[in-house]
Amino acid sequence: RPNSVEARDIAFQLHSYADARRHEDVGPMVVEKGEGIYVEDLNGKRYIEGMAGLWSVAVGFGEKRLVDAAARQMEKLPYYHTFSYRTHGPSVDLAEKLISMAPVPMSKVYFTNSGSEANDTAIKLIWYRSNALGLPQRKKIISRARGYHGVTIASASLTGLPNNHRSFDLPIPQVLHTTSPHYRTMHRDGEDEAAFARRCAQDLEDLILQEGPETIAAFFAEPVMGAGGVIVPPEGYWDAVQPVLRKYDILFVADEVICGFGRTGEMFGTTKYGLQPDMITLSKALSSSYLPISALLINDKVYQPIADESHHIGVFGHGFTGSGHPVAAAVALENLKIIEERELVAHVKEVSPVFQTRLAQLSERPMVIETRGVGLIGAAEVYHPELSKTPGALGLKVNAAFLDQGLISRNMLDAMAFCPPLIITERQIHDMFDLAERGLDAVASAP
Ligand code: PLP
Repeated sequence: RPNSVEARDIAFQLHSYADARRHEDVGPMVVEKGEGIYVEDLNGKRYIEGMAGLWSVAVGFGEKRLVDAAARQMEKLPYYHTFSYRTHGPSVDLAEKLISMAPVPMSKVYFTNSGSEANDTAIKLIWYRSNALGLPQRKKIISRARGYHGVTIASASLTGLPNNHRSFDLPIPQVLHTTSPHYRTMHRDGEDEAAFARRCAQDLEDLILQEGPETIAAFFAEPVMGAGGVIVPPEGYWDAVQPVLRKYDILFVADEVICGFGRTGEMFGTTKYGLQPDMITLSKALSSSYLPISALLINDKVYQPIADESHHIGVFGHGFTGSGHPVAAAVALENLKIIEERELVAHVKEVSPVFQTRLAQLSERPMVIETRGVGLIGAAEVYHPELSKTPGALGLKVNAAFLDQGLISRNMLDAMAFCPPLIITERQIHDMFDLAERGLDAVASAP
């Protein structure tokens, strides 16, 4: 049908994370509307959105309060910027709210529009600070293999996944990667989880020493890795890694773009794992992705050198037209109100045992070789001796089988992710995993 949405999508749109050569074969999936944990496609087929969009629609689809908050702000002031000390109520209210919610003492908020921009901005702020301190050599940044921090040139460099580097001549030379904390694929013979965690910290220290500690400015990490395959840190990991950062006075940036606002069963992953970050990046559940907005929180240690007269090196020549956008900020504020009023973090704590039990039970299914998760996030890794010769081929098949069943997941190569809206009920968690089991069985019976 030449005028269909599908045909026009193929004609006019280039998609993220897609192979343009396969657009027509795979065929676009047109999502038309959403309600709660469900979305519906153009043909009226309903799916459980087991990924909350892209790990982000915390309060579910169709939340009228967010629509109203946006409309009210649109009427009053649809746009203003925050350059050169201009400001407006919604950005100030949201900044104050985020400082009050912060899991460790933070002093300032810088607004951006995406997780990538928040991390990219964090890097520029770190470099600016090093220059302000008269330490121009202190510019290198360490992140981890399989970490995901976004796709701008600098944040894609932080990301530790081959797809984000190959074909782009990345990472940039200032960004280095240390060991991924995935126990199953990275541990050595005879190494238990605790010993593996200690070695991850040792690998980090070795890299710092090899490069010269005076050249390392910061370490970026997600409390729980998301897009790298949902990798929950092994026992003792953060207790081993954080002292290394302190020893060499390296800034710690916690990328809470997925973990922030309840995902792990605490408001922040930082609290869940006892982290002491100097900077925190937030997005996704901040506005439940109803509008794009992200934030970078910085503590006094980061802020003071920038604000100190004696260190003055000129204006922070950075900023986005949409930084602190009033409509996005108003929506984010209302979204945080909903998260608090409906006690969604307590809800995650309450229902996550069911989620984690059903997730773990997937390993009794054929092809599932590992499950991992925490709170309301998890992944099931699938393997098949033939199909797994091409990494991701089986994952794609399982993805398609899930869709047939009416379940949206996301395969990160062969790890099937589950990250539903935080409002999901126990009954709906059972429904979601029932569909996943049926999908897995369908592939196993006809691989
Ligand atoms: N950081 C983390 C942990 C993410 O999961 C993502 C996106 O999935 C990003 C950063 C990048 O965010 P965005 O896609 O909004 O640029």
